[in-house]
Order: sequence, then C-alpha cells, then structure tokens
Amino acid sequence: MKYSLIIENISEIFTAAADNPLITGGDLLIAVDNDGKISFAGSRSEFAQFDPEGMLLNCKNIVNAENRVVYPGFVDSHTHIVFAETREKEFELKARGATYEEIAASGGGILNSAKKTKETSLDDIIEQSSVRLEQVISYGVTTVEIKSGYALDVEGEIKLLRAIDALKAMYPIEIIPTFLGAHAYPEKFKNDHEGYIDLIISEMLPEIKSQGLAKFVDVFCEDGYFSLKETEKILMAAGSMGFGIKLHADEFNALGGTELAAEMGAASVDHLEEISDEGIKKLAQSGTVAGVLPITSVFSRLPFAPAEKMIENGVTVALATDFNPGSSMCGFLPLAASIGATQLKMTVENSLRGITLNGAKSLRIDRSKGSIEVGKDADLLIMNTKSWIYPVYHFGHNHVAKMFVKGEELDINFRQS
Ligand SMILES: [Zn+2]
Repeated sequence: MKYSLIIENISEIFTAAADNPLITGGDLLIAVDNDGKISFAGSRSEFAQFDPEGMLLNCKNIVNAENRVVYPGFVDSHTHIVFAETREKEFELKARGATYEEIAASGGGILNSAKKTKETSLDDIIEQSSVRLEQVISYGVTTVEIKSGYALDVEGEIKLLRAIDALKAMYPIEIIPTFLGAHAYPEKFKNDHEGYIDLIISEMLPEIKSQGLAKFVDVFCEDGYFSLKETEKILMAAGSMGFGIKLHADEFNALGGTELAAEMGAASVDHLEEISDEGIKKLAQSGTVAGVLPITSVFSRLPFAPAEKMIENGVTVALATDFNPGSSMCGFLPLAASIGATQLKMTVENSLRGITLNGAKSLRIDRSKGSIEVGKDADLLIMNTKSWIYPVYHFGHNHVAKMFVKGEELDINFRQS
C-alpha cells in the first residue's frame, strides 16, 4: 500500500501556498503517504498520470469529500489557553468602560491570574485547559502555540509549562510551548525590576531549558510592563541559550519593540496595533512575522493593526486568537480570518493564509505545517461547503466537517463547555 489516505471528490483546495494558493475545477483529490505526508494534490486526471496504477489497489482509506472544499489545518500561533480560572468579573468592569491599566491597578489582570495559578493544582489546570483546547481543536486547529506567563515565579511558570507538556501528550495535534515569564512584574518585584529579570535569566530559563519545556521565549514589551532595554536583556539571554524569540509589542504604545524584534531575528512580533511606519519597514526587511490579533482588538476595544499596509509593504502577516482570560476570551480562530477580510481590509486569500501558512512561519514550522504541499504533514480539513471563500464569509460558525492530523482522522466530538 502506497497511501494511508486519499480524500477524493473535493470541490476546491485552498493550499495556502504562495505560488499556487488555490486549485479549482472539481473532482480533485489529495493522496497521503504512509508517513502521513502529502504526496499529491490536484485533479483526478493529473493523479492518473502521477500514479498510473490507480488508487484502489494502493490505498487503505478512501474518504469521499462529497464535493466539498479542503483547507490546510488551522494554525493558532498566539494563545494563552493554559490558565487557572476565568475572569468574567473584570469583563463586566470592562463593559462599563474600565481600561486594561485600570483593571491591572485594581488588582485584576495578569496578577489576578498569577494568584489563581498558585492556588490551583497542576491536575486542575490541565483539566480546565484541556476543555478549552478541545474547543479550539474542534474549530479546525491542528497546530497551536500556548504561552505560560500566568504565574510569574519559578515554580508556577514550570507548573504552567508542565500543563502544556501534558496537553501535548493528550492530543495528536502539534502544540508549541512558549515561556512568557516576562508577562508582567509580580507584586514582590514591583519596585525591583532587575531582581525579577535576574530570576528569569538565572533561574527560570536554565531550568526550562534543561527540562526542554519551551521552544520560544516571549516578552511583553509595553509601558508599565517591560521596557525596551529590559526586553532586550531577557531576549539576548534566551537567544544565547538556544530559545527562539517572540515579542508582544506596540499594543498600546510604539516603544521600539518591533524594531528590536526585527534586529534580533525574532520569529514573530505580535499585537502591533500601534506599529509605526519605521517598524513596518524594518519588519519587511527582516524574516520576522507580524502576528496580528484582531479578536483582541474587538474584545478590548483597541484599534486594528494596519495589516493591509504591512502586507503591501512586504511583511508576512499571521492572524491568531490571543485566546486568554483578560483581553481575548475566544479561541475561534476562523473569526480572525473573517475580521481580517472585513475590518483589516485583507483579501480572503491573505486572511486564510494568516491562520495557516503564515501562522506556521511565525512558529518556524512551515517546512512541515501550514499548507497543502507535497512533502508536508497531511493536516487537513474538509469544510462543510463547496466554496473556499464561504467559511470566511459566513462568519462566527464552525464549518469543519472532518479533520485529519498527519493523515489520521480526528474525532471532533469534544466537550463543548
Ligand atoms: Zn498575548
């Protein structure tokens, strides 16, 4: 047997690839080899030339797509879904007009989550987070990045990263762990920034490295959080230890975090609601991906990042949910693509690429993930529609009919609350 899976009778394939993003014409098929990699995507007549022996003798599992569209599995490249307890009371305050800073000043925000993380057992955090992760997967997400950052001490941050590691073992999807100890200053170090940065660099990073608990290190570079200098210090240390680097920057103010990310060769710099023209120029010249989080803009009443302008200037733009209990309590990644097309003035193609290939680029795994191309992992979605545009157009609804990870079908009947 040559193939572990063939999906036949596909109406259209959105591949997300730069040179050939869309295959149309009906009667298409995708063949997957025994290692779960894509070996062919195209029309039935092309397949007959590609493999004259035909598929019937050569395939273990033939799935009929019933004239529906196939997408690459979605990649959510920026989330904080591992946390203890939700924060709906703050949401109510926000609805009355309280700002992010006011909520933080009144003991809410990230420090509130940090307190709850300490009081919650590892098993309980895993249980709570697994429910959220199952929701996320059921929306078609086959790769997700998850950040720590809701503990802000050595023990707690390790606990959160262990929870992420436990989820990796529980689900067949790709989970990329990021250490975000520099998410805020804990109460104890409010007036001793150097002390906390020292704790991150000399205790947290070596411990996380030795246990192999994170691929990336991320810093929240913002007024009232980590200054540009502090951010640089942490990221230099992380880079020298072999971690990939990421930044949260330009969310409220443009402090130069975007320029720093480009100079340091960060995998991505995310938020960018307030990015400057100079920042856009620098990003375009670098290999750093812009991580745009439009659901956060909606949830937290922030301006939208200028995604269209960035794309016009040659920046690679990924779209992600930023799923977190404070500023974006939503893991429905396709919504980011729909807001991309409606509010960020992105094309439908670029919006979908933002939640697939460019998400994979932002996690530096685009060699194997993010698009339907020969040799890549067969992470595939059959959507409940004939048209590749429809799932972005009919927004706020889950259109996933079937999903496959490395050619294996995934049961998507998860817990939904
Ligand atoms: Zn974030």
